[in-house]
Formats: sequence, structure tokens, C-alpha cells
Amino acid sequence: MAAIELRGLTKVYPGGVKALDALDLVIPDGEFFALLGPSGCGKTTLLRTIAGLETATGGAVVIGGRDVTGVQPGGRDVAMVFQDYALFPHMDVTDNIAYPLRIKKVPKGTRREKAAEVGARLGLEHLMDRRPGQLSGGQQQRVALARVMATQAQAYLFDEPLSNLDARLRLEARTFLKKLQRELGVTTVFVTHDQAEALAMADRMAVMEAGHIRQIGTPSEVFQRPANTFVAAFIGSTPMNLLDGIVRGDTLEVAGCKVAVPDSAAGLLSDGEQIVYGVRPEYLAYSAEPADGAFGGKVAIVENLGAAHLVTLDVGGVSVQAVVPEGSEPAVGDDGFALPRRDRALIYRNGELV
Ligand code: ATP
Repeated sequence: MAAIELRGLTKVYPGGVKALDALDLVIPDGEFFALLGPSGCGKTTLLRTIAGLETATGGAVVIGGRDVTGVQPGGRDVAMVFQDYALFPHMDVTDNIAYPLRIKKVPKGTRREKAAEVGARLGLEHLMDRRPGQLSGGQQQRVALARVMATQAQAYLFDEPLSNLDARLRLEARTFLKKLQRELGVTTVFVTHDQAEALAMADRMAVMEAGHIRQIGTPSEVFQRPANTFVAAFIGSTPMNLLDGIVRGDTLEVAGCKVAVPDSAAGLLSDGEQIVYGVRPEYLAYSAEPADGAFGGKVAIVENLGAAHLVTLDVGGVSVQAVVPEGSEPAVGDDGFALPRRDRALIYRNGELV
């Protein structure tokens, strides 16, 4: 087990794409760390550079205090699960899981025992004699995970580990994987497109954009206090409202409405300054009656979220979205008012959190 440290890590692909731009990151020993960001932001490149499958153009990768920047993948003592699993088609599940142990010359009996134990943890016990061609995509993915988890390594690297599971299995696998990682205590970095997955599983996470890390924090820090408008817009199943505004004395003018300065920005704003006002749709209280400090407008769209509705208000040409509990949703065309929570709203200045 070991901490992973990246120092000024840069990767420029032939042809000039800068996939990683001088990244600094420390992942402490035993942490479950998620890399999240839009397609093409450099997540897979970062994982592959830690594994040694890509050569860094600049900077250093340090694992367990050892600079491994120039070390071949086999010498880094990390185990990686790939998006395409890379299972051996001619071997059964037991042999696939036990393969890395065979390479390490672990005796056959011990190998089979270990494969059975890890296979059982991943719900594969009834499939141990099958070959990959006889398994579903999700089962193959679990075999690939089991193979990595049967290996003693200083760190595990997972690229989209749950991407081929259906929605229900995916939820189960999240809980399972988090529990397993905690029991094993092995430093784990996983890449995901799925923010719900990152929020649910990670101890901490990094949100990347175009080769840069835009925020590092616990899931609740990143959700509650996005460090900039990029992260604010990216995180959240319904995107945060990000509204242009201006400071007017000790209140704000946002979308033509007079709203209160959020608690977190109290005393930090200057009269007349331009700001962006951020509030998640979950943190606006919707009402049919006017209220001081509320956004008032006409209901433009009502979307069903299942247990709640997402209401889009047209506030003088600006859209403001609020989550409204099931049963109290308005109709399109109604007058509506949405009162933001002062303890949850945020202010951004030049794109950065105040
Ligand atoms: P996704 O979520 O779509 O898998 P990602 O965040 O993992 O994306 P990367 O695959 O790391 O992103 O790619 C980062 C950037 O580097 C992209 O612009 C991509 O086009 C480019 N890139 C990736 N691999 C290569 C390569 N072998 N040669 C040239 N450019 C590459």
C-alpha cells in the first residue's frame, strides 16, 4: 500500500495534444480516489501515466515514496483494470483471476483458493469454470476486477470499472466495491464519467477539465462548494443555477430580482461589482405566493423527476430552476416564486468561488 504523488505531471501526445498540463496531486495511502470530468479531459491518460503505460513528457510520478517516472509498468507494483478487461479467452474464470498469481509463481493450490475467495466476493462462484466468451459483459467486468483484487499491489487503478453493468447491478457494485476497497485498504484511483458514482464511492475526488484539475475535495465539498463555475455547472444531477448579478449595497440584483447576499459571501462583496449567483435547484423553496428575496416569474417547464418535479421559471427572460416536491408542482403558465437558501447559495467572482 502506498501514497501516489504526481508532481508537475505533463503529457503531450505526438501531434501536440496536451492531455495533462503540469498536474500536482497527492493521494494518501489507502484512499479511494475518483477522477471525474467531461470526455477528453485527460482522465484515462492520467491513469495510464500512473500505471506507466504512457510516458510522461514532464514531471514525476511517485508511488510509495519511490520515483517511478522512468520505471516500466511491470516494475511499478500497481494493478490496473482496463475498459476492455483484457481477459484470456482460452482460460476459465478461475485461471483468469489467478493469472497474476501464476506469474508471481504462487503455488497452484493457493492460487485456486485465492481465486475462489475473490470470485465469491464478486458473486462469481457459480461461473468459475466458464470461459470469458460464455459470460455477459457485466460478468466479464467482474472477472477483470477480481483478477486485479487477487493481486497484491501497492495501488489499484480502475478505468470506468462499472461502465458495462446495468443500472441495478451498478448500484450494487458501487456499494460492494467501496466496502471491498475499505477492507483491503489499498490506495485506489478510479476514472468515471458518472458523477453519481464518484460522489457515492470516493473518499475524495478530482474534477478535471482540459488537462487541468479544477477542484480536489471530498464529494460533499465538491457538491456543496464547487470551487469555480466549471465544477458548479458540471456536478449535480440537475445543474446549478448560475445567474449573472450585480451587488447593490447590502443586497444583490439577480435576474431583475432583489435577493439576499448568501451567508458565505457576507462582507466580501463591493457595491456595484458584477458577480455570478449560484444556487442548486434543490435549495430553492418554491411557492405560488410572492416572498421577499425570491425569484418571481412564469412557470415555463415542469419536468417529472420521479419523487419530485423540476420547475423552470422564466424570470424576465432568465431561466431559474427549482426542485418541487411531488404533489405541489405548478402548471405551465402559473406565476411562481423561488426563494433561495442563504446558507446554500454561492457567489462567484471571475468564475471563482468567493
Ligand atoms: P473519455 O472520458 O472520453 O475516455 P478522457 O478524459 O479519459 O476521455 P483521454 O483519453 O485521457 O481523456 O484523452 C485526453 C486527450 O488526449 C484527448 O484530447 C484525446 O483526444 C487525446 N489523446 C488520447 N490518447 C491519445 C493518443 N494516443 N494520441 C493523441 N492524442 C490522444
